[in-house]
Amino acid sequence: MERNGSYSVRSGYHWLHNTECRRRNPRPSSSMAIDPRLWKQIWKADVPPKIRNFLWRALRNCLATSANLHKKKIARTPMCPLCNDHPKTTEHILLLCPWVEPVWFGCSLNLRINRQAVTSFGQWLGNVIENGRTPQERSRCLTVIAYFCWQIWKDRCKAVLEHISPSPARTTHAAAIAINEFLGSLDHGRHQTEHPTLSNDNQHHLWNPPASPFVKVNVDASWNPNSKRVGIGILIRNTHGDFIKGSSIPSVANSAIEAEAQACLEGCKLAAEMGYRQVTFESDCKEIISPLKGPLSNGRWEIYPILSIVRDVLNCFQTYVWTWIPRTANQAADHLAMLATSRMSPEVWVNRPPSSLMHILNKDGLPCPPRSA
Ligand SMILES: [Zn+2]
Repeated sequence: MERNGSYSVRSGYHWLHNTECRRRNPRPSSSMAIDPRLWKQIWKADVPPKIRNFLWRALRNCLATSANLHKKKIARTPMCPLCNDHPKTTEHILLLCPWVEPVWFGCSLNLRINRQAVTSFGQWLGNVIENGRTPQERSRCLTVIAYFCWQIWKDRCKAVLEHISPSPARTTHAAAIAINEFLGSLDHGRHQTEHPTLSNDNQHHLWNPPASPFVKVNVDASWNPNSKRVGIGILIRNTHGDFIKGSSIPSVANSAIEAEAQACLEGCKLAAEMGYRQVTFESDCKEIISPLKGPLSNGRWEIYPILSIVRDVLNCFQTYVWTWIPRTANQAADHLAMLATSRMSPEVWVNRPPSSLMHILNKDGLPCPPRSA
């Protein structure tokens, strides 16, 4: 309870978290038993602990909903403060409040919420996950849903506390970025444990395809300090790991870092020309990733002008993520950069990579590029 006597989601949340959840109420919200298989899946879900916990609370009806707070005499009304309409239950907050409809449709699973069919959050979650998918797809599906629920809850709390309208587009983007970053780190970690003898060695990280709906752009540069010549390598691959486009671009630069910055710029330009809207960029140069992820002033002064142009080009993407990867996960782009050093003019490959790149693409664990033609 706030000083003025009204409730806030935050105070209500803490109150409920500290009391209601600890009591371990054995019955979920709509008195519908939750399939034990669903609990199992949630415990092994590929999500960070805080999100698993959140999902657990939602299924246990331990979220600080108005209806719950009203029952505990904290909230004055059980109605939803955002739509002023339906009682604010877990189902309403995460699935039925009108603003979340476009959020769910915008997620990579393109979910349409059938209002009439939703009886409880647990039942809905179980149905979506079970719906004729392989175990691997079920796990990916659960990760996506968990992140979206978490983001919806966070953005909803913010909207209620700050008396502003929630933005479905912002919520969708924030969740998509978080998922992509999390799965990226998870995949690298996994490959590490799959090769226990190499597990302490960062050099053995592998490349991984992006999560849908992203494409992945790998960029790299090689620089010759004597001739100042630069080779830039760019590679675009999709969520199946298919080679879409690659390019080798010769250039000149005064330093290795300037060459890397040029590679980032060329990668952005290529993805923008192709009309992609959701892009993950990977570089093995930490000094470039840091200013691109944060303020440009994090970077060295001599690359500031190039990175400002990168920032301008990035504006044409709906969602983008910059990720640092070890050199071994960036070998394909590295190879195209090497090819560029022996050329006088840029070269572009569409759908079919140069044959010298094939063994690296195969090593990245990819299907070979189009077998037909
Ligand atoms: Zn509502």
